[in-house]
This record gives sequence, structure tokens and C-alpha cells, in this order.
Amino acid sequence: MRVRAAVIERAGAHLEVETVDLADPGPGELRVRMQAAGVCRSDLHVAQTGEGLRFPAVLGHEGAGIVEATGEGVRLAVGALVVLSWTPRCGVCRRCLEGRPQLCQELSTSPVGGALRRGDRALGLYMGLGCLAEAVVVPQACAIPVPADLPPAKLCLLGCGVTTGYGAAVHTAGIRAGETVVVVGCGAVGLSAVQGALTAGARTVVAVEPVKSRRDLAVQLGATHSVDPESTDWVGAVQSITAGGADAAVEASGDPTVMARLLDAVHAGGRAVVVGVPRFADTISISPYHLLLEKKLTGSIYGSADPHVDFPILADLYRQGRLDLDALTGRTYTLEDVNDAVEELACGGTPRPVIQM
Ligand SMILES: [Zn+2]
Ligand SMILES: [Zn+2]
Repeated sequence: MRVRAAVIERAGAHLEVETVDLADPGPGELRVRMQAAGVCRSDLHVAQTGEGLRFPAVLGHEGAGIVEATGEGVRLAVGALVVLSWTPRCGVCRRCLEGRPQLCQELSTSPVGGALRRGDRALGLYMGLGCLAEAVVVPQACAIPVPADLPPAKLCLLGCGVTTGYGAAVHTAGIRAGETVVVVGCGAVGLSAVQGALTAGARTVVAVEPVKSRRDLAVQLGATHSVDPESTDWVGAVQSITAGGADAAVEASGDPTVMARLLDAVHAGGRAVVVGVPRFADTISISPYHLLLEKKLTGSIYGSADPHVDFPILADLYRQGRLDLDALTGRTYTLEDVNDAVEELACGGTPRPVIQM
């Protein structure tokens, strides 16, 4: 069949919405009619840098849609609402067997041989999904059923940003009741980390963010303090608020200068988690004294979450009013206006612009 999709030709180019070919679902695959897709910071990152992307490519890796057709051996029924997951969760590699599907050895930022083609040429699919398209074909392990009465334009955020931020706080940092936490960068991921920290019972959550509207949003969502890193030394402010350093720090800015200072913001024995996507060539240097003081520095991919377990939990928290997805989104865009959505994200507007198909 033929579908409209947002294709990028080379790094730095605008997205072009064009009609491309979509193969039928094979065994174990299903076709999803996309309802909504968020534009994530990492879409913007690969669009600008080209790093990890096989061009020409279809961007989009945070989407929700309705199962429209199924291949042989698929359990999900036609008509189910699903949120797409970008870990292949092959189920047989060492990492999957260890219960860490976010590190599945089949994971690729732009796998070869996807279902979307332009003529005889397969298009790169960012994170294996390429869901800035009217429809996609994915393995059933990448389609997670969620309650059909909840709005796809909100649930799509579970597909990347919300799970990444919430999970970084809850799973990777392992925040416990009564702890002090700093979150640096308050886009959709950071604001979800703020919410995750609060759900886990943090008593102090410091939101560090240069854009005032986003700092205000963090406070609205429950952050106890906010700091503008352009007018104040944020590390000094965090040390002062937390009496010497936070128990845990979550970086969601993608800025290596922030990553390099993260261990300064936590006390001896504290944990620091890097979530933002750097450039391949970025490096950071840290004092080994931090390590001597038993501080831990780690990364987090997909919030160390298992989408099959966590998406339904997060959908339920949203239903209960304990996870705010509405505050992360603003006006929606059509697929044809995708470049406006990308522009809004680049300018620090709404944390998560959403394309409604
Ligand atoms: Zn695997
Ligand atoms: Zn993402």
C-alpha cells in the first residue's frame, strides 16, 4: 500500500512529506495505522547530525496507533490501540534473557530492511520504527496494547520521552522515599523524571532549566525548587538547597558540559544518571575522586524500562491523574506541518509537539 511519510534526505535537511510504499506485514508483524506521534529531541538530534541514521530515512519513534492488519502468528487483534516500542525485545539474546530488553542486542538506531520503501530502495527507519508516517509495519514485540479509551495523542508520549524520563528516575536512579533529587533539563524527558522522582517519594526535587516556561511547568508538576542555570551556578544552587549535594541527579539536556558536572551535584555515595543523547565525538572528563567517594555515574536507555511492563503501568497512572501527560503537550500538528513541530521543539516551546495523523 502507499502511505504518506516524513522523509529526511540528508543531515540538516528539512523533512519532506511524500508518498512511499509500505510492505504487507509478514509473519509475526502487524500494520499499525498511526493516530499520533511525538517529535522527540533525538529525532531533532539525528536530523541535525545524521549520526546513526541511514539516509534517506523516516523519522519518528514515539507513536500510538491502531492495529489494522496482522501477519501470521500475531496475537494482537485488529482494532487494538498500541503504543510503539523501539526496543526489538527479541526475547532470545543475552540482555533480553537477563530482563533488560532496553539493551536488546538487536537494537539499532536505523536497521536495514524495513517495510517502508521509495521505489526499490528501502528507507532508513529511525529506531526501527519511522512512525512519522500514516502507517507502519512492525514486529509484534514492538506494539504494546494500551487501554483503547485513553487518547492516542497523549499515550504516544509513553513510546519514548515519558518512559525514558520516568524510568531514569524510578528504575535507573532507583529513587527512594525521602530522597533529594536534581533534574537538569526540563523538556518532556526531564519533566517526566521530575514526575517519576515524586512518584517514588522524593522530598526535594530541584528542576534546572534555562527556559522559564519549562521551569514553571516543573514547579506546576511538583518540583520543590527551580534554578535558572543561565543566571545562577546550578551546581552551587543544588548543593545549597540539598545541604551538600543531592542523593540522585538526572541529566536530560544532552549537553556534555552538564554531564561533566553531574557528579558535583550529588553527595558522597550519590547516583548520577545521564539520559540526554550526545554527539559521537563528545567527551567529558571527571575527577576520579568522585568515584573514590562512591558516587555512581551511569547512563540510562529507555529509562531501563520494559515497555511491555511499563507502558500499561504509566497509562494507568495517567488515567488516575498521577502522571500528567497533558502538561507536556500543546497544540497538535498535521503530518504535512511536521517541520513546524520540529521548529517548535528546537525553539524550546511546548515540551512535546505532537503530530495528529
Ligand atoms: Zn534481545
Ligand atoms: Zn526519543
